Amino acid sequence: MTPDEFKQAGYRMVDTITEYMRTVESMPVTPKTKPGDVLDALPISPPENPESWDAIHTDLDSIITPNLTHWQHPGFFAYFSCNASAPAILAEIAAAGLNVNGMLWSTSPAATELETRMLDWCAQLFDLPKAFISNHQNNLGRRGGGVIQSTASEATLVALLAAQERHRDLNNPQTGVLVTSDQAHSSVIKAAMIAGLAQGPDDQSRVRLVRTHPDGSMNLDELARTIDAIHAENKSIIMLSATAGTTGTGGIDDTPAVRDTLDRAHETGHWPGWLHLDAAWAGVAAVCPEHRGVLAGARVADSVCINPHKWLLTNFDCDLMWTRDSGAIIRALSITPEYLRNKQSDANAVIDYRDWQIPLGRRFRALKLWFVIRHYGLQGLRAHIRCHLEWAEWFAQQAQADDRFELICPRSLGLVCFRLKHAPDAHDPNPALLESINQSGKVFLSHTAAPKDGRFTIRFVTGATATEFKHVAGAWSIIKDAASSLANLG
Ligand code: PLP
Repeated sequence: MTPDEFKQAGYRMVDTITEYMRTVESMPVTPKTKPGDVLDALPISPPENPESWDAIHTDLDSIITPNLTHWQHPGFFAYFSCNASAPAILAEIAAAGLNVNGMLWSTSPAATELETRMLDWCAQLFDLPKAFISNHQNNLGRRGGGVIQSTASEATLVALLAAQERHRDLNNPQTGVLVTSDQAHSSVIKAAMIAGLAQGPDDQSRVRLVRTHPDGSMNLDELARTIDAIHAENKSIIMLSATAGTTGTGGIDDTPAVRDTLDRAHETGHWPGWLHLDAAWAGVAAVCPEHRGVLAGARVADSVCINPHKWLLTNFDCDLMWTRDSGAIIRALSITPEYLRNKQSDANAVIDYRDWQIPLGRRFRALKLWFVIRHYGLQGLRAHIRCHLEWAEWFAQQAQADDRFELICPRSLGLVCFRLKHAPDAHDPNPALLESINQSGKVFLSHTAAPKDGRFTIRFVTGATATEFKHVAGAWSIIKDAASSLANLG
């Protein structure tokens, strides 16, 4: 493709994306695709001869787009959102065009240094402690800093590997245990499986799940009991992964109190393990000064992660991870073959982010943050969050005022967990209600099991970039109508 041909095809692709943004609302949020439909529409073998861009565009429009779940649809209220924005899309284009691999400082100085600056900007944006600022040295001689990981799952795994590294110095590695809550994201257990602490999701010999309150936050009495049981087995805690904003119900662990409990239970009065704070979704709300409390746990955490790709207008993928002990991460992950050696790394004069992550190669993701933060400014980012919170509150009030529904816990930021009331031993109408709501094609909601009783609970999350109040109001009408139809049928 010549540069001129690229220009033409590029403009056409931008037109396609623009049209998608304009029309996505008219499409069903979730497709009616059956397993294998897309495979059947694709040739079994690759083309021998070049194909035209017309043909490629036609297939994009006819095979791919109609068979997608439209995460950018304004009626997307499921899971947690996956924010796109025009500035972030432009940054993705720039990053793809430049296509550098920032594995080492020397393989693209600007990629590394922009990332360092963006992580320091974001640390200010979220009001994180100074210990997380790049190269800040604390009184133990540990250096802070941040890095962009692909996902929160990777951040948790990296934290666990660093925790194991710290623990190796201290104890017999076979006695180390990971503690988290029974509402923590599954990626915490997956990290334990990858790091060799668990043979499978149900292996709890070295992973302990602390019971939670009905809102999904960790029960501190249960934590104290869990710690006692671990000590009684002559084991020690390598890492505790706390959550600010559990995936099911948005529960926020009282992480400073978690740290106190750990310290008090340790013979020296100071627990030496690693405290990770998973604030993948809720942490974003801390761009608003009135929601800084969500990240109170950062004061006592060794690492924190937040996903701008969920709720901060930054296209997937972009997880921000900070630590106050980058040395532990680097010791856990650094290996330097001759072919990667260079003057600046040897002189210890630069950050090589390859040492802070699992893969070697890395995308230029800092550009997205740079474009997004500059385009919206902090005020724009705060306005984005505040709208969603206001609409979620409106939604929660409607559900509360309607006798047929109950909230299973108080609204957490943009997440409202509700269900149709029913006797515990009676048929549960909620799965059918959710199905009927989603069949409308106008909205998409997802579900969870309530921490208190395990019962089916519907989740409604505001956060999609394109959502406006009218979509939230429209969703509530659809939900009410679906509940009425179900009652009539029943
Ligand atoms: N942690 C929490 C609290 C989450 O809600 C999620 C996903 O929703 C994750 C971690 C996993 O995020 P990622 O897809 O970035 O690994």
